[in-house]
Amino acid sequence: MKARSARLNGLGTTIFAEMSAAAARTGAINLGQGFPDTDGPAAVLDAAIAAIRDGRNQYPPGAGVPELRAAIARHQKRWYGLNVDPDAEVVVTTGATEAIAGTLLGLIDPGDEVIVLEPYYDSYVAMIQMAGGVRKPVTLRAPDFRLPIEELRGAVTGNTTAILLNSPHNPTGTVLDAEELAAIASVAIEHDLVVISDEVYEHLTFGVPHIPISTLPGMAERTITISSGGKSFSVTGWKIGWATGPAELIAAVTGAKQFLSYTSGAPFQPAIAAALDFGEDYFTAFRTQMQQQRDQLCAGLTALGFETFIPAGTYFATSDIRPLGFDDGLDFCRRLPELAGVVAIPHQVFYDDVEAGRPLVRWAFCKRPEVISEALVRLSGLATHGR
Ligand code: PMP
Ligand code: GLN
Repeated sequence: MKARSARLNGLGTTIFAEMSAAAARTGAINLGQGFPDTDGPAAVLDAAIAAIRDGRNQYPPGAGVPELRAAIARHQKRWYGLNVDPDAEVVVTTGATEAIAGTLLGLIDPGDEVIVLEPYYDSYVAMIQMAGGVRKPVTLRAPDFRLPIEELRGAVTGNTTAILLNSPHNPTGTVLDAEELAAIASVAIEHDLVVISDEVYEHLTFGVPHIPISTLPGMAERTITISSGGKSFSVTGWKIGWATGPAELIAAVTGAKQFLSYTSGAPFQPAIAAALDFGEDYFTAFRTQMQQQRDQLCAGLTALGFETFIPAGTYFATSDIRPLGFDDGLDFCRRLPELAGVVAIPHQVFYDDVEAGRPLVRWAFCKRPEVISEALVRLSGLATHGR
C-alpha cells in the first residue's frame, strides 16, 4: 500500500495497552500500566461535574482556559519560585502526552538529534520518529540507575538540538539530583541545546527533593517543562497536561498543538485549576500514601527473592527477575498472567541497548494496599516456576 509510511513502521501496540488488555482478558491484577485504582479527591471530581453543569462544554481557548493557565503559573511560583507568564509561557495540552508530541513536532526538524535517557518513556521515541528526528539514548544502568554524565557529554554531536529529560524517571524511579542537573545544564548551555523536561511525577518523590532543571541558572530560557494533572490528582483518564517555558518555545508547541487536538477537555480544566491550589496537606498525604505502598511492594518482592531496586520517585518499582530463575522480562511478563495472575511491564522495550533491560521488570504500586497484598500472595507461587 502506497499510503503505508515507513516512518510509522514498527510503532505497533504499546506495551501498556498490550499488558492492560492481558489483565482484562485473564482477570490478572494489573501492576502494569501506571494508573491509580482510587479516584482523585472528591472536590476535584465535583469541580468537573459543576463545570459540565455550568455549560463549560464547548471549545475552550487553544492555549487553555485562563484560570488553569493562571493556576499553573501560581503552582510553579509556589513550589519552585519560578516566574511564568500565564498568557505567553503556558500551554494546556491533552495530557503530558500531547505536550511531548507538540514539543517534539514543534521544535525538532528532520535529522535533528535528541538525547534521551534510556530506559525511555515510549512516546518519546515514537514522537522523535514522527518528527523525523534521531534519538541518542544515554543508558541509566542497574543497580543505581544514576546518570552517566560523561556518556551524556559524549552523545552530543553537531546535529544535537535537544536533551529530553524525565525526573522523577519512569520506569527506574531515579530522581536526578542537584549535581546531575547542574552537569546537564552545563552541557545544554555549552552546546546551546533546548532541554525538554518531563516532570509528571513532580509530587511523587520520597525523601528527596524534586528540582526542576529550569530553576538552574541559564536554564529557564532554554527549557520546556512538562507536567500533568492526571498524575498529581489521580485522574489519569482526564488527560489534562501542560508545558511551560519561554514564550517563543511555547508558541512553537502551541502551534503544533493546534493541529493535534486544537483544544483540550473544557470542563476538566477548571477542576485541575482548583486542584493545583490545594494546600500542602493534600500533597503530603498523597506522597505519604504512595510511599507506604512503595515500601509494602518492595519489601514483598524482596522477600519473594526478586532483586528489587527502591525507587526515590514515581509510582513504579523495578526488579531483576534472575534470582527466581527467569532471564527475559518480556517473556516473563507475557507469561505472568498465566503463571501468577499478575501483570507487570518489561523494561527491555524501553531500550535500544536491549541487553541492559532484559532481566528487568517494572511494577506499579499506585494500587490499594489490599491489592498489592493479593498480588504478592499470587506471586509467591512463582518461586519454583523459573528454575
Ligand atoms: N510522561 C511520563 C514519564 C509518564 O509516565 C506518563 C504517564 N502516563 C506521561 C508522560 C503521559 O502523561 P499523560 O497521561 O498526562 O498524557
Ligand atoms: N504513564 C503510564 C505508565 O507508564 C501510562 C502509560 C500509557 O498508558 N501510555 O504506565
